Amino acid sequence: MDVDVAIIGLGPAGLQAAIHAARNKVKVVAMGKSESSSLNRADVENYFGIPSIEGKELLRVGREQAKNFGAELLEEDIIKLAKEGNRFKITTETDREVFARAIVLATGISRAKLGVPGEKEYLGKGVSYCASCDAGFFRGRAVAVIGEESEAAESAMLLDEYAAKVIWVHRELKASPQMLDKVKRTKVEMIAAKPVKIIGETTVTGLELEGGQVLDVQGVFIALGAKGSMDLALELGILPDPSGQIKVDENCRTEMEYVYACGDVTGRPWQLARAVGQGCVAGDNASKAVRQEKV
Ligand SMILES: Cc1cc2nc3c(=O)[nH]c(=O)nc-3n(C[C@H](O)[C@H](O)[C@H](O)COP(=O)(O)OP(=O)(O)OC[C@H]3O[C@@H](n4cnc5c(N)ncnc54)[C@H](O)[C@@H]3O)c2cc1C
Repeated sequence: MDVDVAIIGLGPAGLQAAIHAARNKVKVVAMGKSESSSLNRADVENYFGIPSIEGKELLRVGREQAKNFGAELLEEDIIKLAKEGNRFKITTETDREVFARAIVLATGISRAKLGVPGEKEYLGKGVSYCASCDAGFFRGRAVAVIGEESEAAESAMLLDEYAAKVIWVHRELKASPQMLDKVKRTKVEMIAAKPVKIIGETTVTGLELEGGQVLDVQGVFIALGAKGSMDLALELGILPDPSGQIKVDENCRTEMEYVYACGDVTGRPWQLARAVGQGCVAGDNASKAVRQEKV
């Protein structure tokens, strides 16, 4: 698929960017999972003009609006993002390839916590939320990957290239069939179980599962959603600022030409009003940049 503007994220920032870009009459696709938007879990009482509304409902209407203005929406996670010549190549979890002239990153803040003892204590001492950042530290060692979705599948496959042993601990598998097929062709072991505790001394030495079984691992990678927003930016060579956010200027431009970002991923306050405001700026500017180029 070839588009002018590809938006990564189907939360309020991404959908607002899609609405503004599509109204500028360029070809727009927005990708992600509406269910994964933070707004999906919110009851909102502080949004201008609407005294009280479920976030889920706002998202539903926002998706319809974006489609009505001509944006295409794909309910898929992105697993790879690369610059190829003067285009960006985006690979989704079903192996679909999308080529775009401009990108809007509206991926929110993920990094969902597992919420088990040991997670905080051993963060940076064997516990990681980012396989692409930390895989190299686990060469020749045994690691567990925890999660159900594309991020976990992707992390397990990446770690398989470094670690001596990779055990993917999951409950309900939600990664695409294509990704699961790929994982099955690697040495990654899969266990359906609930992790209850990360065990260690100075660093991680094991992962305890419900029922008492202990996996002998030195690393625990927690990958509970889609590939993290930072991972996608890093794949393009965009480095996060010291507080871990994507830095943008007043036009929502990142340090890389034709790459824009908006919403929670660019910083606080993590609020709907800010996400929507920045979505407007990013979508408008990304589409205008592409239009100018076409003139
Ligand atoms: C419980 C709760 C209550 C809240 N209450 C309020 C409130 O009352 N008022 C208020 O103003 N704000 C509230 N918020 C905050 C508000 O929901 C967020 O600020 C807002 O949703 C941010 O929008 P966003 O589009 O930047 O990110 P999100 O809404 O989080 O959307 C991120 C999108 O990026 C997608 N994505 C991420 N990684 C990938 C990938 N690899 N590939 C494809 N897609 C990807 C996700 O699928 C998702 O669609 C609340 C948040 C929570 C969690």
